[in-house]
Order: sequence, then C-alpha cells, then structure tokens
Amino acid sequence: MELIYMDHAATTPLDQRVLEYMLPTLQDVYGNASSVHRKGQEARKLVEEARSKIAEVIGATPREIYFTAGGTEADNLAIFGVAEALGLTKGRHLITTSVEHHAVQDSFLKLQEIGFDITFLPSDQYGRVNPQDVAEAIRPDTILVSIMHANNEIGTIQPIAEIGKITREKGVYFHVDAVQTVGHIPVDVQTMNIDLLSLAAHKFYGPKGIGALYVRRGVRVKPHIYGGAQERGLRAGTENVPGIVGMGKAIELAVAEMEERGKKEIYLRDKLIEGILKIPDVRLNGHPTERLPGNVNVSILYIEGESILLSLDLEGICASSGSACTSGSLDPSHVLLNIGLDHATAHGSLRLTLGKDNTEEEVDRVLEVLPTVVHRLRVMSPIWPENLLK
Ligand SMILES: *Cc1c(COP(=O)(O)O)cnc(C)c1O
Repeated sequence: MELIYMDHAATTPLDQRVLEYMLPTLQDVYGNASSVHRKGQEARKLVEEARSKIAEVIGATPREIYFTAGGTEADNLAIFGVAEALGLTKGRHLITTSVEHHAVQDSFLKLQEIGFDITFLPSDQYGRVNPQDVAEAIRPDTILVSIMHANNEIGTIQPIAEIGKITREKGVYFHVDAVQTVGHIPVDVQTMNIDLLSLAAHKFYGPKGIGALYVRRGVRVKPHIYGGAQERGLRAGTENVPGIVGMGKAIELAVAEMEERGKKEIYLRDKLIEGILKIPDVRLNGHPTERLPGNVNVSILYIEGESILLSLDLEGICASSGSACTSGSLDPSHVLLNIGLDHATAHGSLRLTLGKDNTEEEVDRVLEVLPTVVHRLRVMSPIWPENLLK
C-alpha cells in the first residue's frame, strides 16, 4: 500500500536536496561556529550564508535574524522577550487573538498568570481578525500585538499588512508567527511593517528543531536562554550548524519553487474540497479564498475526527484532526470553537494539508476512500439522524 501523506501543516518531510546539502555539516564540518580556529570558521561561514539567505527572503538584514530551536522557541522569545524588555517601563498590556497556535497562546496565558494584561481578540466565522478591532484595543500601555500570518489548523490568512500599518502608526511592536507561511506564500517584514517574526524550517522541507526569530533593528527584546554570547547575546547555546545550514537550503528551494508549488497545491486543494463537500452534512472550516495553498479543513457531522483518522490511517492516509485525544486534551481545538463551531461539529473535524509532492492520483484516492469511511462510521453513530429515525 502506497502511503499518502497529507499532514504537511504538522511537519514536512526533509527535502532530499536539503539532506545532501546538510551532510558535510554532520561529518567533516564539525567545528563549533564560535571557535576562532579554521574548523570553527568553516562552520561559521556556512551559518552566515544561511542567515543571509533567510534574511533576504523576508526582506530583513542578516543581523536581524536570530536562530532558535524552532517555531515554538521563536514565539516564546518574541513574547517573553518584549514583555521583559518593556514590562517595567512602557506598560504591561499585550494583544493577541483567540485563534493562535499554542506556542503563542500558552505564552500569553503564562504572562497573564504573572500579572500582565492580555487582550485576546475574537475572529470572525472564518478565523479572520478585524484590523479595526486591533486599532481599538491598543492603549497607551500596550507593548506588543502578536497575530499569526496563517492559521495552522484552518489555513486562514490574516490581513497582516493592514494590521502592521496600524501598529506602526501607533508605535506598538508587531510580532507575527509566520511558521505556516514562510516558504509558502510571500512574507515581507518591510511592506507588512512587522517588527518580530517567527519561522521554523520543518514546515518548509527543512530539518526539525531549527527556527529563527527576526527582530527589527532597534526593537528591544530580552533573552530568555542564558549561557553564552551566541546570536549576539539574544540566544545562548552552541549553534545548530546542520540545522541552520539545512534551513538556509530549504528556504532557498522554497522561494525558487514557491509559485510552482503553490499553483499545484491550490489546484489539488480545491479539487479535494469540492469532492469532500459532496459528502452530505460536511462543512468547510476556514476562509474560502484567504487560505493557505495546501489547507483543507472540514467538519464531518455526526462522527468523531479521531475515528476518521484511524480509519484513514488503515488505508495508508495520514491526516489530522482538531478533535480530542491527538492533542492529549479532551477539549476540541480552541480555533474551531472560536470560529463558532459547537463541540460536536468541532469534534468531527478533519484536516488534510497538502505538500509539494502530493499528486492528483493521491487526491483521487482520498476522494474514493473518504465517503466510504464516513458512511461506515455514521452507520455506527448514535447521533446520525438516519439512525435516530429507526
Ligand atoms: C508548527 C507551528 C509552530 C511551532 O513550531 P515548532 O518548530 O514545531 O516548534 C508555531 N506556530 C505555528 C503556526 C505552527 O504551525
């Protein structure tokens, strides 16, 4: 049985070309990038090349890129870093949304616990935040606005450039979790007026455990990992040379192939959505057009997302759900609840996220398998109306 991987929002496979580019750094290029000798400088050169590539792609300068151990750490560094830098002087109010990734949401909940004042802005039924709401929430003591570029669950793309205009006018730092968008759709920290931006390599066919935070020159952030002068004092710890080098190669390929990958994913995404919506009692979650190229998220009424995943897995199809257990919690996804889904509908969610190597044959196979799986599960469901009639 051929495996069909449609969970690219969770992580992407490592591109073979990235692996080959990384190999020397796992073998001969073992020097510590902070060492003065030639082995160290050999590694340093590769690290700085990667930094430049990443900076160029998002419209930054190399000195504004700080490597971290992934997207979660970049988000934490941005949020706690600004809170600590400005919390005792400018103010203790921060603004975010109710549909953020847990890396952002949980950081804000922690800040709230230790006495910061956090505004969680609502979203509309598609998961979009209204820029006007951002403008109205900003106060004299607001130190940060943090809003994701695109949602990892429902794929909705936020009006980042509009929000950036507002935060810039009001003189408030703007952090964007762009982990789902860098390498997939254009991101430009200049035109979007972004001050801090998180990215992670494993979401664009790079290695896991490496990410970066862009910090605009002059923006004040305190470190939250101590122990050395690496990354210009903002993030201590020996540089992950293989990770950094892989991230540089992955972003280079992602940008070179962005248009081609995007076109293909959008075509497959729309075909998949159209086909799935033919199943009765299925609704699309997320925005119909302002949506990541590879994202499909639907609620399939009367059944559990969890059981759909298990059935699909038996057919060799890897997908995801915003329903319980997978995340180790009993509540369905906060994103689905915040766009207005009731618990039952949120529990019946299915996320299929396409990547650059998915094919039309794979989409056809999913469209062949899914209706059968759904029908079989509904026949066993105590809440399926056709069962209630019996
Ligand atoms: C994956 C993801 C993260 C976390 O990144 P890691 O590298 O897995 O720590 C943060 N935000 C969003 C939107 C993501 O999709």
